[in-house]
Amino acid sequence: MSGKNVILFGPPGAGKGTQAAKLREFLDVPHISTGDMFRYHMKNDTALGRTAKEYTNQGKLVPDDVTIAMVKERLARSDARGGFLLDGFPRSVPQAQALDQICKENGITLDHIINISISDEEIRQRLTKRAAIENRADDADPKVIQNRINTYKNQSEPCLDYYRPKGLVRDIAGLGTIDAVFESIKKVFG
Ligand code: AMP
Repeated sequence: MSGKNVILFGPPGAGKGTQAAKLREFLDVPHISTGDMFRYHMKNDTALGRTAKEYTNQGKLVPDDVTIAMVKERLARSDARGGFLLDGFPRSVPQAQALDQICKENGITLDHIINISISDEEIRQRLTKRAAIENRADDADPKVIQNRINTYKNQSEPCLDYYRPKGLVRDIAGLGTIDAVFESIKKVFG
């Protein structure tokens, strides 16, 4: 099997979390979701959680310095030595650059950026559905959903231009059943 240092990339609602749950088991690596980490902090009302809330509730990115420090600490833990599944990070070019630096310092090489794509209309439909199921404030408001789509296009999508020349991006169509999408993802690992 090819390397296991993996980034799951794609717009909100593309199915990153769903696919991550399956892929973490397949690869046997920790699933590191910055969205889940922020939600944990918000639920426990930590200082980091209170900072994150100001941004997530508006569909904006939590500032890079805060996010990068959190990921740096997480990747330094021993369980990330045999590989990792980063979900929701990087989401800006400065974060991608910072990740390169973190990798360099820790002797890590990135293997795959799995880019799951779906249409804007599909994003809206999926997020609206998820709001009802998961009670996520950032999924419930159409204005916040639009902000998240805009944030993705303006700040996150440019990461693909950063990674493509490095030959790391694996494009996956996100439309289809959960299992069909997972089958396409598995092929990346040969
Ligand atoms: P997610 O569950 O990945 O959709 O993340 C939920 C929210 O957490 C996002 O809309 C952002 O506000 C925040 N967030 C998650 N990951 C990042 C990141 N890498 N950089 C900045 N903010 C993030």
